[in-house]
Amino acid sequence: MTPNVLFAAHPSRWTIYETPLRSAFAELGLSPHLAPDIPPAEVDYIIYTPNAPLQDFSPFTRAKAVLNLWAGVETIVNNPTLTLPLARMVDPGMTQSMTEWVAGHVMRYHLGMDQHIHNPDHLWVPHTPPLASERQVTILGLGALGSAVAEVLLSLGFAVTGWSRREKHVPGVIAHHGSGGLATALAQAEILVLLLPDTPATENTLNTETLARLPKGAFVINPGRGPLIDDEALLDALDRGHVAGATLDVFRTEPLPQAHPFWAHPKVTVTPHVAAETRPTTAARVIAENVRRGEAGEPFLHLVDRRSGY
Ligand code: NAP
Repeated sequence: MTPNVLFAAHPSRWTIYETPLRSAFAELGLSPHLAPDIPPAEVDYIIYTPNAPLQDFSPFTRAKAVLNLWAGVETIVNNPTLTLPLARMVDPGMTQSMTEWVAGHVMRYHLGMDQHIHNPDHLWVPHTPPLASERQVTILGLGALGSAVAEVLLSLGFAVTGWSRREKHVPGVIAHHGSGGLATALAQAEILVLLLPDTPATENTLNTETLARLPKGAFVINPGRGPLIDDEALLDALDRGHVAGATLDVFRTEPLPQAHPFWAHPKVTVTPHVAAETRPTTAARVIAENVRRGEAGEPFLHLVDRRSGY
């Protein structure tokens, strides 16, 4: 039977995703009924974004899965009406984008680019940066994105340390895990990259105590989620010079309110949640593959573990 695939992501996405989705299904020899309006009781799969109007999943009595177009699921993982399997997005295009964004911002701090870009007095102060192999970068979160970022930084020569919830082996990375491993991972971090999900366990991972564990003059780069950082503690560490600079892509409130001190702080760079957007062509293939798996009775890719919240 032809499956019914409801496109219930934010309505603005339909014109962007319709053609890539139809192409991706065709590549797999599938031709489901794909539409933005299908009666709930007839829907087999729900393509979704958490900012969509659909918030009550209870009428979808025969659906097999919710297929999220976003990597982060913190705003839907606790929806009590959502008892279906929930797959999050792991998209090669998004991953590529994240590795490029992080590599760029790591290189900015590593090479000390700012002192040459903003040099109004035309000072001639040669300052040779160390080689990447002499620079310690720590990545908190060694999942789909953190591992890919680690691989790219390693290929540039950086010394990479990582931290995850469970024990993990990523080739070339000095890996720590669990609450006991965090202090060790931070102690090495001349440049710190946050790629953790937003869960109750990760909130305020960077706070007064953990920031104090960073070497003096460390840089913080956060493309993960805003609540990973205690904003006040970071501002204090920046003002005291313990942290030398921060590049922040994600915030507790987005858009970042105009009155927030991050906007005006001379050591903070704000980017407007642009590190890694889902890319329709590659993401559509992930969605189509999960529909194929559902129809074949195979396990879905990238299922969210409700208890862990990611
Ligand atoms: P992922 O594959 O689920 O990886 C998450 C990583 O965090 C895993 O290594 C996990 O450990 C670790 N982790 C989770 N809870 C932890 C805890 N309590 N203590 C220590 N480590 C913990 O997620 P992903 O695809 O890499 O994405 C990471 C996050 O990036 C997303 O959740 C999203 O918030 C953010 N993101 C941002 C953008 C942007 O544009 N700024 C774009 C995409 C994603 P285990 O390996 O042990 O599970």
